[in-house]
Amino acid sequence: MSFDANNFRDVDPGERVLMGPGPSDVPVRVLRAMSAPCIGHLDPVFLSIMDETQRLLRFLFQTENALTIPVSGTGSAGMETCFVNLVEPGDEVVVCVNGVFGTRMSDIVNRLGGKLIRVDAEWGKTIDPDAVRQAVKGKHPKVLAVVHAETSTGVCQPLGDLCTIAKESGALFLVDMVTSLAGMEVGLDRMGIDAAYSGTQKCISCPPGLSPISFSAAAMEALKNRKSPVASWYLDMSMVSSYWGADRKYHHTAPINMIYALREALRIIAEEGLEARFARHLLNHRALVAGIEAMGLSMLVAEGERLPMLNAIRIPEGADDLKVRKALLNDFGMEIGGGLGALAGKIWRVGLMGHTSRRRNVFLFLSALETILKAQAVDVRPVALEAASSIY
Ligand SMILES: *Cc1c(COP(=O)(O)O)cnc(C)c1O
Repeated sequence: MSFDANNFRDVDPGERVLMGPGPSDVPVRVLRAMSAPCIGHLDPVFLSIMDETQRLLRFLFQTENALTIPVSGTGSAGMETCFVNLVEPGDEVVVCVNGVFGTRMSDIVNRLGGKLIRVDAEWGKTIDPDAVRQAVKGKHPKVLAVVHAETSTGVCQPLGDLCTIAKESGALFLVDMVTSLAGMEVGLDRMGIDAAYSGTQKCISCPPGLSPISFSAAAMEALKNRKSPVASWYLDMSMVSSYWGADRKYHHTAPINMIYALREALRIIAEEGLEARFARHLLNHRALVAGIEAMGLSMLVAEGERLPMLNAIRIPEGADDLKVRKALLNDFGMEIGGGLGALAGKIWRVGLMGHTSRRRNVFLFLSALETILKAQAVDVRPVALEAASSIY
């Protein structure tokens, strides 16, 4: 069989403005860091890069937790890491579900043989702490888990009450911070969160491939006191932590160049400062919402419960979901997300995450959307840009 390598061209994906639910735009500095020479995973130079990455991650999570590392894998690997290390067969686990990612957590708990105690809320609404209080009555959950920023709906879950309920019922408090970390306050230690995971491709603005996680002393204690070995060899933190800690014991080969990229993305975040970064996310979100509402469209999530980095916009009457997204991509180079599950065809998900969260992208999106909707004969008021301007 003949094989002609010349049939394959160079990789050239073109330029995009990534305004979907992730990945977000990656700064050139991060891509450049990724292309540095690959060295060994036990090379002293790499070991110091690992240490710096951990220090930067602790700063971002706002924690002193010793086990604060990037897991090799995307956000879902971080999710799986938290549950597989902390849950044993038969353990009661409370999972709050109001979107795709809470559903995914439940799936993992079931696969691990945990006794799932599921607390649901309508997609697009927050979890009611009273429903959780009710669900844990007379129970002894090992873990209480919730998604901070539900990327499938744009809902921001307040953590304070749920954290209190977890402590009162003796459960570890586990939080999905895939979309919230680096875009809004998470304050791990201040809140008393025991286990958290994130992803590199949302507000950290690094390519997908790593999942930062952090375990508190209580979570480490629970790991140490397990009756059975962690069901996943690859994600067993009792072994992985020896490589990231003082022992430097080989477990699996670290994704060297991805860690260069993460370190650079974290350095950019530290240069900007957390407060300035959160304020930037909020400002651009407010401008986008002002523009959308001025056009005559509406948001899925009630004011006060919205995420600053993920905007769920109701698709207006008469607009063709797929055609609008196709025109955004083909005519304007912009990617946005559609709805998932019951919200498919009902919402657009517009991300303003990390490096994407910029004034120019807000204006580009609003003007592109207005142009496309007008072409589809959808009635929109041409005042979005003024409304956004007034926020700035
Ligand atoms: C994106 C996302 C995940 C999953 O991350 P992957 O990198 O796609 O594996 C989990 N939780 C939330 C809230 C997310 O937004």
